[in-house]
Amino acid sequence: MTTTFPELNPPVRVLMGPGPSDTHPRVLQALAKGTVGHLDPYYLETMNGLQEMLRQVYRTKNPMTMAISGTGSAGMEAVVDNLIEPGDKMIVCVNGVFGGRMVDVAQRAGAEVTKIERPWGEVFTVDDLKPVLESVRPKVVGIVMAETSTGAWQPIEEISKLVHSYNALLAVDAVTALGGIPLEVDAWNIDAIYSGTQKCLSCPPGLSPVSFSPAAMEKVMSRKTKVQSWYLDVSMLANYWGQNRVYHHTGPINMTYALYEALRLVLEEGLEKCHARHALNHKALRAGLEAIGIKYSTQEGHILPQLNAVLIPEGIDDAKVRGDLLNRFGIEIGAGLGAYKGKVWRIGLMGYGSRPANVLLILSALEQLLA
Ligand code: PLP
Repeated sequence: MTTTFPELNPPVRVLMGPGPSDTHPRVLQALAKGTVGHLDPYYLETMNGLQEMLRQVYRTKNPMTMAISGTGSAGMEAVVDNLIEPGDKMIVCVNGVFGGRMVDVAQRAGAEVTKIERPWGEVFTVDDLKPVLESVRPKVVGIVMAETSTGAWQPIEEISKLVHSYNALLAVDAVTALGGIPLEVDAWNIDAIYSGTQKCLSCPPGLSPVSFSPAAMEKVMSRKTKVQSWYLDVSMLANYWGQNRVYHHTGPINMTYALYEALRLVLEEGLEKCHARHALNHKALRAGLEAIGIKYSTQEGHILPQLNAVLIPEGIDDAKVRGDLLNRFGIEIGAGLGAYKGKVWRIGLMGYGSRPANVLLILSALEQLLA
């Protein structure tokens, strides 16, 4: 028998958009290792190692630290669905697409949502939040640390202190943050956090690392209503990822290998060195972009090193440049989303992709295309 469907032969790309970013070759090798059963002692050991490494990367001692089967949005739903019971009040900070998505997820979970907004590219201050906390008195506050749609780097520590002074729980989106910028789950008292594998962890999309503080778990375990999602119910997942290892769903074995290897890479390099590398390559990119007249669209002082959101120069055809980058140079960069459509390019320097060769490649390609 033959088939007319061709063998897979994906083009070689340099992924310099908002994610997925380039997968590290060692992670690709890990994906290709032999699949074992999801309750095989070897797999259980691998899960233990993965959880311990995740705690180190998240800088937490939270026992309930694990990888949700699904992409970053599954992590968002896991955090919101578990913390929210119908009728609970939640404040969500919205300054881009992903804060907006959190509002939708929270409303679907039955939260009474109050949205606070800042213009795209800007971040929230304690002063923005305080009066709203005072009047709403929410159970949970949600905020995005690295807003991938705008390149804005949201400081978390002071906001967390404020949120806790009102006895609310803080939920943080760290999909683009984890591995790219300093993040301290315990020291900043973050109650629930989620990330994705496909940004600064140099891994393909497919898992969402999450962590729940003891205070968050107390809220989950004292719920009066069932979590709306069976698949993402953390009280049941706790039996699989906790001591008991009771079957819940079939773990995505090879993606677990991939994330395991990706975390080993981060820890081998050292977290601080990994953040410093992201900062250095960003600085080089920024200097080069500014030399050819390209400016950032993000609030000064809050620019993410791993996601460079820049204004498309006047008179330049957005789609043509991105098409030429892809077709002539093999480089993918991101278009603007929502309010930034046609106005902004998003250039990622994430994980394995954050390296000098990529900085030089995108700068020389843009110089040629914009000349
Ligand atoms: N939150 C942020 C900040 C993101 O950048 C993304 C994806 O780009 C998500 C959530 C959703 O993650 P995913 O697309 O992996 O489901």
